[in-house]
This record gives sequence, structure tokens and C-alpha cells, in this order.
Amino acid sequence: MVLATGIELTQAAQQAQYAVGAFNVTSIAMARGVVAAAEATNSPVIIQIGEKQLTNYAPLELIGPVMLTLARSAKVPVAVHLDHGFSYSVIMQALKLGFSSVMIDASQVDFNANVAATRAVVQAAHALGASVEAELGPMNREGGGTTVDYSQLAQTYTDPQAAVRFVSSTDVDMLAIAYGTVHGVYSQTPHLSFERLQQISRLVTVPLVVHGGSGLTDQDYRHSITNGISKINYYSTLAFQVANAVGQRLQNPDEQVFISDVDNWTQALVQAEVVTKLQVFGSAGKA
Ligand SMILES: [Zn+2]
Repeated sequence: MVLATGIELTQAAQQAQYAVGAFNVTSIAMARGVVAAAEATNSPVIIQIGEKQLTNYAPLELIGPVMLTLARSAKVPVAVHLDHGFSYSVIMQALKLGFSSVMIDASQVDFNANVAATRAVVQAAHALGASVEAELGPMNREGGGTTVDYSQLAQTYTDPQAAVRFVSSTDVDMLAIAYGTVHGVYSQTPHLSFERLQQISRLVTVPLVVHGGSGLTDQDYRHSITNGISKINYYSTLAFQVANAVGQRLQNPDEQVFISDVDNWTQALVQAEVVTKLQVFGSAGKA
């Protein structure tokens, strides 16, 4: 199929009240697993990789073309997205490779600097027919030495009026907002503010994105979608669970294992987990 853009998929989701799953893939096996899950459920999907996930093993110039080839040969609409782009050069590299969507994350700088950085990326991406996601209200992160003070989380929620000004001054296509989710694996049960999400979605017309989608309950996903979320980023739990399952299977002393077996297990495990998520997100059958 022709590569889908992020905005095509999320706008269709917004209109029909479901969410597009956006899954980070750091290897061929993971990417194949996600695309296979989308095909098995007749679902649109977004495959993505974050700038910080790029490694010497899978730099953008290698993993990018793999993602694009899989997306173009899929039987369902797939968008290829750069998640959390921080540097203009990496974002431009993704666009030049043919990514149909990019995220500029300037959420850590002040409002005006975030607007300026986002506008610059919007201009470059729109000229190439790609869509842009930005983030307002810095998302908290668990892991890597940081823990989140959940009692203070409400102070970091995205301000609805600021979201309106941000979208109109940047012309951004999709907006990632903060209403209680956290990146990484949750150390406490998250309490999402659906009230805040609702306030934002009443005022902002572009599709809204939730990050830190791992570890939420099915109820949280459904409420998020009903209240205006059109793209759900899902990675940490997926990667963690699949690694554990592979590890357990490797303990079996009766099985002679080759490295290609590990790739095949990974693909199958990713596919199974993503199928369940696409069903909960409501995108199954929407391709
Ligand atoms: Zn994120």
C-alpha cells in the first residue's frame, strides 16, 4: 500500500472515535510483529522509533528503510513516524528517508521556544507531504535514574488555553498532551485526569496523542479515546514483556535454540501483544 501519513490515520480515528496504535520498533523482528498484527486485525497502525532509541546496531539509515519497506508492502495503511525527535538534523534525516510523520519534542523549553522549533519542523515536513506531532506539557519519565513524584503530577498537565495558542501558532498536525501518563514502566498506579483531557479536546481540533500508554488499564484506554485521544504510543510494557517471555523460553534445556529462533519468537510475541492492543484501541477492522 501507499505509505499513510500520521495525520491521515489519526484524523480518521478522531472522526470514528477510536485510536491508532503507535508502536516503537527497534528491530526487524519487532517491526514485522507490529505490521503482522495490523494485517491480522485489518487495522491501520503507526510504526515508530524515537531518536534516543537509535543505536549503533540500528541507526536511522538502516532501521528507517526497513520500516518504510514493511509499511509500503503491508496490506493495511501504515505510517512511519519518528518519535521524540530532539535535533533538527535527525528529523530532517527521517524526512529525507521518506518518513511520513515526525515528532518534534521541544517540550522541555519554554512556550515560545517550543513554538519556534515546532514551526520550523512543520514548514520542512509539510513541504515534503509529511505530518508533524509536537508536545506541550512536559511528559514525566520513570526509569534511567528518574522517579516521578505522583503527588505533583497535576502541576505538569497541559494547560488547555496554552494548547489552543500552541496549535494556532505552529500549524502542527497532532498534539501530545499531559494528563497524568508517564513514560516508562509505572512504579505506581497512574490516575489520569479525564477532566483535563476533555477540556483540551473541546478546545483543540487537531488529533491528540497520549504518550506513556504502556501500563494503563483497558478502561483507561477506552476513557482516553472517548474523551478525545486519537493516537496511543505504546512501547515499554511491550518491550519488557517480550524480552521476559523470550528469556523464559531460553531456560528450556530440551530445546536447541538458534538466534533466528529468537527473532521468530520475538516477532510472534510482539504480534500477539499488539493484536490485543489494537482490539482495545478500537482500530481493528478500520483499515
Ligand atoms: Zn513519548
